[in-house]
Amino acid sequence: MFDFQINSDECIKCGKCIPSCTIHFANPDEVTSPRGFIALLGEYQQGNLELDREVKNIFESCFLCTNCVDVCPKSLPTDTLIENIRSEIAEKYGIAWFKRLFFFLLRNRTIMDIFFKFGYMFQSCGVKIKENINSITLPIIKRTVPSLSKKSFLNSYPEFIDNGSDRTVAIFIGCLANYNYTNIGKSLLAILRSIDYNVFLAKEQLCCGAPAYFTGDFATVDYLSKRNIEYFETFIDKVEAILIPEATCSGMVRVDYSHYFHNQPEWRERIEKLSDKIFLATEWLYRQEKLHRLLEERGKIFDEVVTYHDPCHARKMQGVYREPRELIQKSYKFREMENPNQCCGFGGVTIQSEKYHLAKVVGDSKAEMVRETNSDIVSAECSACRVQITDSLERNGVNTIFRHPVELIADALFK
Ligand code: SF4
Ligand code: SF4
Repeated sequence: MFDFQINSDECIKCGKCIPSCTIHFANPDEVTSPRGFIALLGEYQQGNLELDREVKNIFESCFLCTNCVDVCPKSLPTDTLIENIRSEIAEKYGIAWFKRLFFFLLRNRTIMDIFFKFGYMFQSCGVKIKENINSITLPIIKRTVPSLSKKSFLNSYPEFIDNGSDRTVAIFIGCLANYNYTNIGKSLLAILRSIDYNVFLAKEQLCCGAPAYFTGDFATVDYLSKRNIEYFETFIDKVEAILIPEATCSGMVRVDYSHYFHNQPEWRERIEKLSDKIFLATEWLYRQEKLHRLLEERGKIFDEVVTYHDPCHARKMQGVYREPRELIQKSYKFREMENPNQCCGFGGVTIQSEKYHLAKVVGDSKAEMVRETNSDIVSAECSACRVQITDSLERNGVNTIFRHPVELIADALFK
């Protein structure tokens, strides 16, 4: 069992974590707050609390946004504690069939490719595609989800893209950008060509494992993380960096793999050895002088106003927030929203499928913030945020469109 007690004993009950807690915002109750979660976990470890369905429901309501970790004076890792209790919950209650199917697909890239291809063919039969926001509304669950692309990003290009350079970077694309938002990868390839980098497409990459980690399916996390680490080791010496244009995926690989391997030191050491070369895409692009030069040469070319939402796994987990803003501001007008660091309310598979009412409360607040900026475009380096923000804007009648920062940069260079 993970040692919950040590963290519970450390908590000084100061309550600094509560004002920024996403679930406490949606459900203002002490039990659904970081301090409340930690107290319950201490009671559980002492044998005073049973993991019954009510307690399960409480622990499954955390959005894993890490706001609490960011502000806690004792640096208590509430997100890691929740992920570990969810693993115990999954062992006791099992995992819903549709999540097991989803995680099975994440483990099997070839079957996933076929499944998504069929999904593309049939998606127009029962759903309405909204072309302007690249999404569809499923009548059964009544929420907006991204539409599928005809061909995945990884299957659209050769494994090695030779741009005539002696420098190469690899791309880890993430599942949503691979199957749904394929223009992100296309834009990243175009930017890399313009700054003279070859690209290794790392076609044998598997899902980072974040959806399974947040749901407590540790067997899937173990499989995916180890296969990815072994694969990265085969090419890491041949590339300058592995770029991940997705905050959740890069946060998972760079930070959460280490948390997950807390009791597997050999694997922890292996991922930490690789981590120096793994970057969120804008973080690495920001370091490229040639990109700055090219953007400056083009000047402020767009009248559109952009606002930027900070994905939890970018700013709080990896400290990346300045880089996308500065790159965007070279070509667009920019306006900050009131609280860009407030979680969008995506929250993971369980929140989206079983607790969507909570996601809606948080999403409505984010949509209002975007509306108040009167911006044309809202951007965030995370496709999970994109799913949630697009859905929230749509529900609240806000006309702002969503663009990934890499798409904005590519437009600035080539439009
Ligand atoms: S901020 Fe940290 S120490 Fe203070 S109540 Fe929250 S979890 Fe406990
Ligand atoms: S991770 Fe987010 S939602 Fe969960 S307890 Fe911490 S602040 Fe609240």
